[in-house]
Amino acid sequence: MSPDANAPIVLSTHGLCVSYGGIQAVKHLSIELQAGELVSLIGANGAGKTTTLKAICGLIQPQSGEVRYMGQAVHAQGPWSLVSQGLVMVPEGRGIFMRMSIDENLRMGAYLRRDDQIDADIEAVYARFPRLKERHKQLAGTLSGGEQQMLAMGRALLARPKVLLLDEPSMGLSPIMVDKIFEVVADVSKQGVTVLLVEQNAHRALEMADRAYVMESGEMVLTGAASDLLGDPQVQAAYLGA
Ligand code: ATP
Repeated sequence: MSPDANAPIVLSTHGLCVSYGGIQAVKHLSIELQAGELVSLIGANGAGKTTTLKAICGLIQPQSGEVRYMGQAVHAQGPWSLVSQGLVMVPEGRGIFMRMSIDENLRMGAYLRRDDQIDADIEAVYARFPRLKERHKQLAGTLSGGEQQMLAMGRALLARPKVLLLDEPSMGLSPIMVDKIFEVVADVSKQGVTVLLVEQNAHRALEMADRAYVMESGEMVLTGAASDLLGDPQVQAAYLGA
């Protein structure tokens, strides 16, 4: 959903720097997401995209700079508190619980909720992903990669995200599954969830986004409307195989 120009900023980083020992993985990164936007973050392997997402949701501490979610500094809050306020990540590799069933994994997504809509939301996930419903008692570890990605997305939706951070959701999936996953991302965005999408498939990521940021060696090197970046010769040469 393209937000109106006056939509509030729900997520931002200002001068974000993150290091692993001597390796500076993210350098002075400043990005902003308005409510309802779908923003893609693209860049080569090792550019610092995953590190950025981890710092945003409080999983790693920045060396300097700050992240704000709904106007509040993230570093002052634990990751669980952020999840309960609607900042939810689907990590690279999906992070599902392999020895738990599909049903149990989905319920884990609602772990911090105290309302009575959880069963209804699980049914909504099953309506979105009938394949998960057919296998709802099956152990997650026995699912295909595409089914595991569906489960990871479904589990994130059970947390009722306001902002959804997606780390390489199409990685390792068949073309049909990639289509399905991007269809769900577009649909979730249309429902008003703000999305920050990290993707190796830069073409698809730019096609579906409102705006995008391009990272190189920890720095943001380009930003703009996704449609403009799709037509940018520099982006085409570096990321779109042109
Ligand atoms: P990819 O697409 O390959 O996942 P990325 O853009 O997400 O890449 P990051 O995973 O954020 O990049 O990595 C950024 C840099 O930080 C890389 O040089 C990487 O080797 C390094 N790095 C990432 N995680 C660690 C870690 N736990 N310890 C040390 N260095 C790390």
